[in-house]
Order: sequence, then C-alpha cells, then structure tokens
Amino acid sequence: MNMMKQDRTQSESTTLMAKSRQLLKTTFGHSGFRQNQEGIVDAILEGRDALAVLPTGAGKSLCYQLPAVCLGGTCIVVSPLISLMKDQVDKLCRIGVRAAYLNSVLAPRQQVTVMDRMQQGSYDIIYVAPERFAVEVFREALDRTSISLFAVDEAHCISEWGHDFRPDYLSLSELTKRYPGVPVAAFTATATSRDQEQIAERLGLRAPHMVRASFDRANLFYEVASKGDEVNQILAFVKKRPGQAGIIYRGTRRAVEETAEYLRMRGIEALPYHAGLGNEVRRDHQDAFDSGRCPVIVATIAFGMGIDKPDVRFVVHGELPKSMDGYYQETGRAGRDGRPAHCLLLFSMADVPRARYFINKISSSRERRNASIRLDTMVRYAAGHSCRRQAVLHYFGERYGRHSCGACDVCCPKKTFSAMDRTSRDGRHVTTLMPTLKLLREGLSYGQIAARRRLKPTTIAGHIVDLASDGEAFDVDVHVAPGKREMIESLFSEHGMARLKPAVEASHGRINYDEARLVRAAMKE
Ligand code: ADP
Ligand code: ZN
Repeated sequence: MNMMKQDRTQSESTTLMAKSRQLLKTTFGHSGFRQNQEGIVDAILEGRDALAVLPTGAGKSLCYQLPAVCLGGTCIVVSPLISLMKDQVDKLCRIGVRAAYLNSVLAPRQQVTVMDRMQQGSYDIIYVAPERFAVEVFREALDRTSISLFAVDEAHCISEWGHDFRPDYLSLSELTKRYPGVPVAAFTATATSRDQEQIAERLGLRAPHMVRASFDRANLFYEVASKGDEVNQILAFVKKRPGQAGIIYRGTRRAVEETAEYLRMRGIEALPYHAGLGNEVRRDHQDAFDSGRCPVIVATIAFGMGIDKPDVRFVVHGELPKSMDGYYQETGRAGRDGRPAHCLLLFSMADVPRARYFINKISSSRERRNASIRLDTMVRYAAGHSCRRQAVLHYFGERYGRHSCGACDVCCPKKTFSAMDRTSRDGRHVTTLMPTLKLLREGLSYGQIAARRRLKPTTIAGHIVDLASDGEAFDVDVHVAPGKREMIESLFSEHGMARLKPAVEASHGRINYDEARLVRAAMKE
C-alpha cells in the first residue's frame, strides 16, 4: 500500500502548504508559526524526512500534527510517554482531529478495535509506544494502513549516549526500510550534536531537514552554590520568593518527603511528588501545582514529564543531577513564559562518592561507563569557575560568543542567592536561628536557651521574636510567668505597644524589655 518515497512535485507541495496555513488557523487556532515550525512542516509536506532538536515548549507537536491533518492517510506518532497519550488525544479530538492511541492501558479488545479502525483509515493521528513495533499483529496492521508520516517523539531515546536510552527504540531503525515511501520526522528536546548524528543514522533518515535551535535560555539565571544544611538553604531560598511557583528536586523519595514536610512546617505551601506515591495522590499534587493552588512542589525527577506550566519561577536541585541532559531538561521547566527565572544547584563534593557508589552497582559495563562519564561532566560543571551558560551550551555543542552572560553566579556574583543569603536575615537562619528554634521546640525558655547556647538572653529573645514573625508559633507562658504576662498585656492596652518603652517604664522595674518583646510577639501572632 505504501509507495516508494518520492518527493512531491512542486505544485502538489504548494497546494499542501497553502492548506496547512489555513488549518494552522482554523483547526489549531494559531495566528502564525513559531520559529522553526514552518521549515519543518514544509519539509514534511514536501515528503522529506526531518530531525528537529528544539527545546521543550518550542511547539514540537504541531510540527507533525499539522502535516498529519493536511496529508491524506494516518500519521503514526511513536512516543514512550504512555501517560501523556490520552491527554494529547483528548486535546486533538476536541479540535476535531481524528486521533487515537494504542498502548498497554487499553484492554486487548479495545486494542483490536483501534487497529481495525486504523486500517480502515479512520484516524489522522495515532499514538503508539515503541514496544508495539515488536508485536507482529501490529506490524501486519501497519502494513495494511495508508501511512502519511512517522513522527518519532523523544527521539534521543534511540541514542545510546543520551541519558535515556531505550532499547525498544532500536526497532524503529526498520521503519525507513519497511516503509520506504513514508517520511520520518524525529523530534527531541535534548541531544548534543553527536547524539543528533547518531539519531539520524540509527533511524536511517534520508537527507533529512535538520533543525537545531539554540539551547540558550537567556531568561534563566544559573547558580551553583555550596551545599551546607541544604534543607535550610532551600527554605531561605523559597522564602525570598513568596507565592512564586517553583520545583525543588531531591535525590531520594525520603528527602522529598522530609523537605516538603519541613517547608510546610515553616509556613510554605509545598507538596511532595515521587513514584512511591499512589497515582491519585500524584495526580492531585500535580494538579495543585499546575493550577497554582500550591506554588511549590518537592519532587524526584519522576516529576516533570509533560508539565507545561509557563510561570515556574525557580528550579532548585538539592543534589547533583545525573547528567547535563537531565540538568538542562529540569532547569528548562523554569521560565517557559520568557520571564526571568532562577535555577539553583546546591553542590557538595561530599555527594560525589555516594553517586559513584550507585554507579558502580550498574551491571552493564557500558552503561556503567556512560553513567560515570556523565557524572564527571556534572562534577566538572558544578566545581568549575567558568560561565555556567557557556558550559551548558558547550555541552550541547554550541559556542557562546559573549565573554560574560550576565546571568550566572560566575558572571554576576552579586545577583546570586548565596550572596543575598549571606547578608540577609534568612542567611542568619541557617547558622544562628536554627539552633535556637530547635531548643525552643524542645520547650526551653529563652533564659535556658541562652544558657545552653552561651549567648545573652536578649539575643535569644530577639531570635524568638524573629522566628515568630516568620510564623513560628510559641508558647509565651514558658518564657514569662502567666501573672506577669497578664500584667504586660494590660500595660500594653493602657500605653500602646508600638514602642516598648512606655509599658516597660510604667511597670517601674517589674518587667524587662525581653519579656515585653516576647509578649508582644505572642500577641501579634
Ligand atoms: P514541545 O513538545 O516542544 O515541548 P508543545 O508541542 O507541547 O511543545 O507546545 C507547547 C505549547 O505551545 C502548547 O501549548 C502549544 O499549543 C503552543 N504552540 C505550539 N505552536 C504554536 C504556535 N504556532 N502559536 C502559538 N502557540 C503554539
Ligand atoms: Zn555566565
């Protein structure tokens, strides 16, 4: 059924292109193309293969969905992200595109129905997982289908150097042989130049239209900071961004839970997300984040596939990411709306041996070697002292011309979180306030805490007032005897409490400033 691949005649292509401009508006509701989309769409409409490396959010789906509705026949989209297929298909159906998906979520009977309908030409687009191509019934059904286009999404999965190699993808190298008349368009958001070549080669692309967008995300500030008491560093960082949406990546489920809990205790709305939570909880938490109900999500890297929230203002990594590709993808979720966003990586050399330990447990020697190379790259990045942006772009094979990027901790140390943290009260938090908080929560009075910490009682009273203004609830009766507290309260009501002096003086030496401050802090609470 499939003819030999032949580039279309000029007039056929011109007609299709005109039609695509129309459908871009009427079906997809976009007023025009975004950068790079037009070239890719036109190449596909001419019958050419294509390979596009475009950052997340660039609009890759349109590059195959639009040709799919212009060309007669069915477009087969290969994607490993089964969990996203239903959403994509629902979206397409809502705009009148005949779409379906075929994956293990469907009952066997439903799968048969979809395959039958596919052969009858009932779909413009059908999403399938790569493992389908190993199933003979599916291959036979494909042979009987009039296919307009193969779109390979997440194409980096075919590259063994990439961070996300999937053996299933290797079976896709057969496509161009088995269906020589059908164009193949491959897409990914993450591939070095070397990966890009390997993808083209493994898919057997025929003189493809190659697009490679710049990986520079100019609105992202990249910062690597020395990791100390990371939970408190994260707290200080988040507190500086009240109400802003952000993602905090932690290395383990336990760290995710603990960090989220800690932030919540300190008055920050934060929810955990990791693969150990039930499907429903995960969906709930993702919804809360997407909709803005909960600004902060603390997650393992299980979080992020398919989120397209435009206004994520920060991404924090509490641990060194496993690869530069991962780091780029994860930080790339910030600032999709083009407005400034901050990417903070907390790094300590002390984390490296642990990472190596896990790498050494990988059984395949080749994978172990690749993982180790990726780790070395990340350590060099984090421990390095050159422009972060230049380093990131260099990794993806791009040269960054400018001497200073103006938006990383190396080029612009003044704008970093670490610099501000050192000079602010939140900085004090880590080293000064935390020990007080700990003893306060153990129920010690400010005098007892002062004795324990060998500091002046006045200093500790100051800590407690600061902690209270940050939302820490404390029991004032532990610090000031109830009778005295009542007296102070009535002095305040008589003399006001904007300033402490009038009430303290009016007490004729029965109360001191520390007691007055503590009672006032408790009253304000
Ligand atoms: P990617 O797969 O590259 O991460 P998507 O295909 O999910 O990106 O597209 C990201 C967003 O951009 C979607 O909300 C999509 O509707 C929107 N979009 C895509 N193309 C256009 C366009 N030409 N004009 C306006 N919005 C677009
Ligand atoms: Zn820089």
